[in-house]
Amino acid sequence: MKTILITGGAGFIGSHVVREFVLNYPAIKIINLDALTYAGNLENLKDIEGHSNYEFVKADITDAKHILDVFEKHQPDGVIHLAAESHVDRSITNPLEFVMTNVIGTVNLLNAAKEIWKDNFEGKRFHHVSTDEVFGALGDEGFFTEETSYDPHSPYSASKASSDHFVRAYHDTYGLPIVLTNCSNNYGPNHFPEKLIPLCIHNILNNNPLPIYGDGKYTRDWLFVIDHAKAIDLVFHEGKNGESYNVGGFNEWKNIDLVKELCKQMDEKLGKEVGTSEQLITFVKDRPGHDLRYAIDATKINHELGWKPSVTFEQGLSKTIDWFLENQEWLDNVTSGDYQKYYNTQYND
Ligand code: NAD
Repeated sequence: MKTILITGGAGFIGSHVVREFVLNYPAIKIINLDALTYAGNLENLKDIEGHSNYEFVKADITDAKHILDVFEKHQPDGVIHLAAESHVDRSITNPLEFVMTNVIGTVNLLNAAKEIWKDNFEGKRFHHVSTDEVFGALGDEGFFTEETSYDPHSPYSASKASSDHFVRAYHDTYGLPIVLTNCSNNYGPNHFPEKLIPLCIHNILNNNPLPIYGDGKYTRDWLFVIDHAKAIDLVFHEGKNGESYNVGGFNEWKNIDLVKELCKQMDEKLGKEVGTSEQLITFVKDRPGHDLRYAIDATKINHELGWKPSVTFEQGLSKTIDWFLENQEWLDNVTSGDYQKYYNTQYND
């Protein structure tokens, strides 16, 4: 049986990737390696826990020795690396944690893969999952392509940019077979409620303010998380060795317009008069170093591999809201404890 090791599989995107692989490839053993930080939640994978081709391993990617042990024991043929510290605001408060997990953790995984594959790379692949934030900020026009120079501005994007460079360096220096994907903002079920869309859903349900940075004109491209998982599946299997692929929704929204659309859909679903939830919108002090606009040109993955998003934003948002309304216990569980303390320090001053 072939084995694929997926890191960060208990997190938001990782859980969808694990599910995609466990269900689509019953003849492949899927190892989900995760440290279960505040963002990791095995509840995200309850439905696939009993599958015979699925196994969870608790391990921290900053622990090089433990990671090598796991690789030696399970002998993965492929690695899909999503484990990361992923929240920009947290990176501003604690940049070193981002260097440790996103940079050192990635190098530990590269070393372990290189070690167990012993320079015989036939049939092996290391897929690094990254972000469009490595490219920096755009003005009103233009798109990020695979050729755009890196220009990260936040400690988060700097750490992801660094990890991307290490992955390419292991390809160029040692011949390690790699692919990269750089994706825009994801949304969907299991999204941790420190991020804009689930935060607003949670706050509307609790009649709390909807915090919007600055004047709300920041623009992001949004992609439904299951479409990202399908893009990862495609690139992992069919992407060209050594290449990177941009993944995006062709779907740009200014934050303020996105939150208004969300408010409208929430009002309709909750049977409230449209316009009720919008009254909760509150502009808050801007994030330092905030990038104005990100926009992905996903032509390469579309033309070369035939990938495109399967849902429109309105459809994806509707599915997302329905999921959160049906899973309020999940939301209550993750919004208690440590997360609540962190949230209070971010938005209640
Ligand atoms: P997330 O924060 O929801 O999940 C991260 C997962 O990594 C968690 O399960 C956590 O427990 C695990 N983890 C963290 N530190 C670890 C460590 N030291 N060892 C082992 N596991 C550890 O993140 P996400 O939003 O699902 O993002 C997943 C990946 O996709 C990240 O690499 C991120 O940079 C990238 N990405 C995210 C987005 C987005 O919109 N969320 C967009 C593009 C790319």
